[in-house]
Amino acid sequence: MRALLIRRDPDHRVEITDVPETDLPEGDVLIDVSHSSLNYKDGLAVTNTGKIVRGEFPFVPGIDLAGTVAESASGDWSPGDRVILTGWGTGENRWGGYAERARASAEHLVAMPKNLSPEIAMWMGTAGFTAALSVLAIRDGEVSPEDGPIVVTGASGGVGSVAVALLAADGFEVHAVTGTESAHNYLRSLGAAEILGREALATPPDNPMGAATWAGAVDSVGGTTLETILATAKRHACIAACGLAGGHVLSTTVFPFILRGVALQGIDSNTATLDTRRVAWNLLANAVASGALDDVEKTVIRLDDVPAWAEKIVAGETLGRVVVEL
Ligand code: NDP
Repeated sequence: MRALLIRRDPDHRVEITDVPETDLPEGDVLIDVSHSSLNYKDGLAVTNTGKIVRGEFPFVPGIDLAGTVAESASGDWSPGDRVILTGWGTGENRWGGYAERARASAEHLVAMPKNLSPEIAMWMGTAGFTAALSVLAIRDGEVSPEDGPIVVTGASGGVGSVAVALLAADGFEVHAVTGTESAHNYLRSLGAAEILGREALATPPDNPMGAATWAGAVDSVGGTTLETILATAKRHACIAACGLAGGHVLSTTVFPFILRGVALQGIDSNTATLDTRRVAWNLLANAVASGALDDVEKTVIRLDDVPAWAEKIVAGETLGRVVVEL
């Protein structure tokens, strides 16, 4: 099978080569992988700019995959079933989606919703799935469009783009924060009502609490941006914290929580339960079917293109989502 391998011999090296199928890890389901995707994490793994891979080398990265079951030792899956695999350490401590075949544990797989194809599922991938989890958190937080605007940071990226489109389709007034000037029209086409530069939220207010502005947030940036959002959240706002594109340190006070009842909801796509996964994938499938995600940018690349595109995603030069065709 053709695969992208990360080697450490001892230096980091990426090679696209034939690998014997017998090298695949243990797992009760063998999958013919037709599509994977490129997420920020994959960019870090392939370019060796972040410690993502925790398995032994050589290693096949790719945190997402979609395809068809080829063989199954589990009663839950049969050859021909169409499946999605994201998270559970895929592409981090277990070989991932950048290979023509993968082995997985039966309980980690999600059945592909009927109206999704593997290519469309990977157009969404972990980033779209994370956006869906964030939107579900905001819904669970009982935030509704009348409560005020929702801010989405890292808006032109994978998580951000899908979040803007999903929230706009839900009737929310979405304020998109972006450092990419050329993405303004794109973000408006997704449904953003306002566009803000990154600097608008980069510096928290001098006082612990600033003007109450946001009814909710999908934050893929973290750091001082998240600090600002917390300090300027409205009463009973729900802030879905899902990323760290701008920093992982968070310095804040308890005031947003005890004076305004703000909820800070962490999002972990890796270990979401199977029930939650089904709900989130159905949300995405319905949004795709309704056309709500039509304008989310999709670039389809081949395995050979992954190293160059990994550099781009780490440099923040990609728009929307990148699908990898095996
Ligand atoms: P992308 O690279 O597609 O998007 C990230 C976006 O963040 C960029 O497009 C850019 O948007 C913005 N950005 C980049 N660098 C900076 C910076 N230094 N300061 C402020 N903004 C910046 O990545 P994804 O959408 O795939 O992932 C976004 C984040 O979410 C990542 O941190 C990722 O690790 C995390 N993540 C977390 C998951 C979870 O389970 N919690 C799952 C998936 C992703 P713009 O130019 O528009 O500002």
